[in-house]
Amino acid sequence: MKGAAIRLYARHEPGFDERRAHSVALLREAAERHAGRIVFTTSLGAEDMVLTDLIARHHLPIAVATLLTGQLHAETLALLAATEAHYGIEIERLQPDAAQVLQFEARHGELPMRRSVELRQACCALRKLQPLARALAGRSAWVTGLRREQSNARAELPFSALDEQGREKFNPLADWHQADVWHHIETQGVPYNVLHDRFFPSIGCAPCTRAVTPGEDIRAGRWWWEQASAKECGLHVAAPPATPPSTPPFTSGQNKHTSKEPA
Ligand code: SF4
Repeated sequence: MKGAAIRLYARHEPGFDERRAHSVALLREAAERHAGRIVFTTSLGAEDMVLTDLIARHHLPIAVATLLTGQLHAETLALLAATEAHYGIEIERLQPDAAQVLQFEARHGELPMRRSVELRQACCALRKLQPLARALAGRSAWVTGLRREQSNARAELPFSALDEQGREKFNPLADWHQADVWHHIETQGVPYNVLHDRFFPSIGCAPCTRAVTPGEDIRAGRWWWEQASAKECGLHVAAPPATPPSTPPFTSGQNKHTSKEPA
């Protein structure tokens, strides 16, 4: 099973070198424009491991943070430590408010996220959105590993846009294919979550993630009991504000997009 994800997905597709060079250029410009005020929030999934690798490999001054929801797989926590050791970096850990978690669990019992979309969203707000807000506090920009291929809602994903707080949000892998991600992981020796080798294409919290079968949509393993249209945790659904940016949007690269990110 080890290496199954690489064998399944990794391919050198036309245009890969250009896409990767553009990603590095975008990260470099983002780091320069938002010096000391930019953070990459990693879920430790495959795309985010690629970004961690690019940031570390090119010594880019971009802080790396992760959200410890309290519900992550043991394999993900092991990868967190392994990533820090592999790259010699420190990853900021953001956790939910312990008292609020206890209160939520006491009130709603086990697996409340399975009972309604509202309870699932409340759990995501408590365990993800509040810690994310702390990760972004005092920062003017953030980086994500979103890709257009991941869902219909992300099909028009721009390389950079403003979120509703006016922060610039960079998506350097927006035009990458799944094959690109795995080709980079394979050829650069990037550490990755062993759950990917067990057919978890998208890895989140343990109660909300399952393996998929060949041919299933790559998001099918997230919140599988819900309608596909509800499957966002809220981390990436913000619209840009109506007010103009205080800094100009990203300007370099041949594939620039600045359209509104879809909800
Ligand atoms: S993914 Fe599941 S466990 Fe994690 S915060 Fe959202 S509802 Fe809660």
